[in-house]
Amino acid sequence: MCTLVMKRDKISDMLVAAKTVDTPKTLLTFNRKLRSSTTYEYIFFKMGWQKGINSGINEEGLTILSSFASTTLQEFKTNLQDTRGIANEYILSHYSYVNDALEELEVFFSKQPSDVGGIHFLMDATGSMGILEHEPTNKVKTQMVELDCAVRANGPLLLQNTKERLLLDWEDRRLRYDQAKSGLINVTGESWLDSMKELLSSHFSKDQLQTGQLCIHDFENTGSRSKDLTTHCTETALIFDVNRKKLIYSDGSPCKGHWLELKI
Ligand SMILES: [Zn+2]
Repeated sequence: MCTLVMKRDKISDMLVAAKTVDTPKTLLTFNRKLRSSTTYEYIFFKMGWQKGINSGINEEGLTILSSFASTTLQEFKTNLQDTRGIANEYILSHYSYVNDALEELEVFFSKQPSDVGGIHFLMDATGSMGILEHEPTNKVKTQMVELDCAVRANGPLLLQNTKERLLLDWEDRRLRYDQAKSGLINVTGESWLDSMKELLSSHFSKDQLQTGQLCIHDFENTGSRSKDLTTHCTETALIFDVNRKKLIYSDGSPCKGHWLELKI
């Protein structure tokens, strides 16, 4: 249901993870969960139908963002729950660093596989970045990111074999992936935040069906963004400024340019 990006840039003092939120109309919640004797404080985003949280950052600076992922066109028929949000919430409550969090997440999804496939991006205050991809049939793959940036547009890259990738080479995913990857080059320097807002608001390409646009309006989803085959809009976009422990988010579509923030 969205495009995920993250990037670290020491010279610009920037650690950032961001995403668009493409969804049918639903309740959007931006809030904070206070510290308890055994858990960290964190700020989070969730959607109305969701158990747990979609994305968030905790007081230690650990950040997690998630999205829909699929490698096949067929719906998996399972008796499972969607456990993605519960996993995210657990990680933010209890972990500080990406490598530990990634290990725990892998165990979590092996024991409690989700009914819906997902991609999870993780970043921490030291600048470590990690990715976990999973699908309902118990497939879980993780990777610590060596490069300084990472992108996913609902297409898993760790799970697929070549044949499956060919089968699912959706133009909508490919265009978003390429666009986000090249757009991230400009997310640097003093105005990196403005550049990130601009990237998330992009209406390129000019295709009538909005194929490949990072920001969509009344988009007829055919499965490239979510398994819900109804009309989707980019209802919000999230930018986590990990160094300043802040969530900057758009009130409505990112292209409207109205941004708010929550800080730890
Ligand atoms: Zn727009």
